Amino acid sequence: MNPLFANLPTTVFEVMSGLARETGAINLGQGFPDDPGPLDVRQKAADAVLNGYNQYPSMMGLPELRSAIAAHYRHWQGLDLDASTEVMVTSGATEALAGAILGLVEPGDEVVLFEPMYDAYLPLVRLAGGIPRFVTLEPPHFRLTEEALARAFSPKTKVVVFNNPLNPTATVFSPDDLALLADFCRRFDAIAISDEVWEHVVFDGRRHQPVLGLEGMRERSVKIGSAGKIFNLTGWKVGFVCAAPEIMRVLAKAHQFLAFTTPPNLQTAVAYGLGKDDAFFDGLRADLSRSRDRFSTGLESLGFAVLPSQGTYFLNIDIAPLGETDDVAFCRRLVMDHGVAAIPVSAFYAQGAVKTVVRFCFAKKDETLDAGLERLAGVIGAAR
Ligand code: PMP
Ligand code: GLN
Repeated sequence: MNPLFANLPTTVFEVMSGLARETGAINLGQGFPDDPGPLDVRQKAADAVLNGYNQYPSMMGLPELRSAIAAHYRHWQGLDLDASTEVMVTSGATEALAGAILGLVEPGDEVVLFEPMYDAYLPLVRLAGGIPRFVTLEPPHFRLTEEALARAFSPKTKVVVFNNPLNPTATVFSPDDLALLADFCRRFDAIAISDEVWEHVVFDGRRHQPVLGLEGMRERSVKIGSAGKIFNLTGWKVGFVCAAPEIMRVLAKAHQFLAFTTPPNLQTAVAYGLGKDDAFFDGLRADLSRSRDRFSTGLESLGFAVLPSQGTYFLNIDIAPLGETDDVAFCRRLVMDHGVAAIPVSAFYAQGAVKTVVRFCFAKKDETLDAGLERLAGVIGAAR
C-alpha cells in the first residue's frame, strides 16, 4: 500500500462523528447544519432527477451553472470572470483542492501552508511531492505576520494554500493580512490556491474579499468555493474553481482524471440557487449569526473562554484556563462522559504548536445548542 495513505489516521471528523453515533452524544463536532437546506433548491434538484438529463454532463460543468457562478461572484465580490474559460465545476471543494494541488505542484516544489489547516491539504501536498513550509497561526487572533511569512517563503515556493474564512478558527482575515499575503505571492512568484468555501458565512457586517481580486493576484490565484457551504447542503459536493485561463487549462486536465463530472441534477439546482436574491443569502447569514450568539453567550455564562468567531459554522474555546493541556483527551472525555462531540483543533496543526483549543459547530437548532450547553455545564462543574 502507498505508505502515504496507509499511515494516515482516519479524519478527525469521521472519528468524532462515529463516537457521537456510538454514544448517542449531541454532535457539535463535524460541521454540518441541523437545517435541511432551502426547500426550493432541493425541489429543483428533485425535479431535475425526475425530469431532467441524468447522463454525463460536460466535463467543465453545465454552462448554466458556470454562467451562474460568474454572475454570482460579479454581484457579490466584484469579480470579472469569463464563464467559458475561467470557471469549472468540481465534485466538491475537496476535488477542487486535489486537482489544484496535484496540477500545480511538482516534486520538490515548496508549498506554504498556514496551520491550523483543513485536514485535506497536507496529505495532498505530500502526494504531489511538494515540500510543506508552515506558517503557524496562534490563538486568540490567528493573524498573519510579516516575520512568519518571511520565514516560510523562499525562491522555491511554488504554491500557497490559503483558507479564508479559516476553518477551524473562524477567523476572517483583515484587508492588511490579505495585502501582506498578496505581496509575498507576487514577490516570490507563487500561485495562491485560495479555499473560500466559507465566503458567504461571515458575520457582523463583514464582506468577503477574494484573493483573486487582490492587486496583482488575478493571474496567480485559484479560487475555490462550495455549494455545500453556501446553501447549508454539505452533502451535495458541488464545488467551483475560478482561475485565469492559463491556470484553468491545467486544473481541467487534473479534473478529467479525478472526478471528470459532477451530478447534473445538483448542478441545475445550484445554478438556480446562486441566482436567488440578496435577502436569501443575508437571511442565511443572519440565522447563523443568531445561533453563534446564542451558543457563545451560553458558553461564556458557563465560564468557558470563548474565542472570537467572525465567520464559518464554528466557534472555539480555549481550555487552558480550565487547567487542561490536551484537547484530544478533553474531547474524548467530552463525548464519553458528557455526551457532547467536539473537534480538538490540534488535529489541524502539523507540528503540535497548539493543544488547548476545541471547536464546536453552532449551525444547529436552538434546542440542540441548549441541550449541548446543559451538558457542557457538567464539564465546568467537574473541572472545579
Ligand atoms: N475546505 C474547507 C476549509 C472546508 O471546511 C471544507 C468542508 N467543510 C471543504 C474544503 C470541503 O468542501 P466540500 O464538502 O465541498 O468538498
Ligand atoms: N468541513 C467539515 C468540518 O470542518 C467536515 C468535512 C469532512 O467531514 N471532511 O467539520
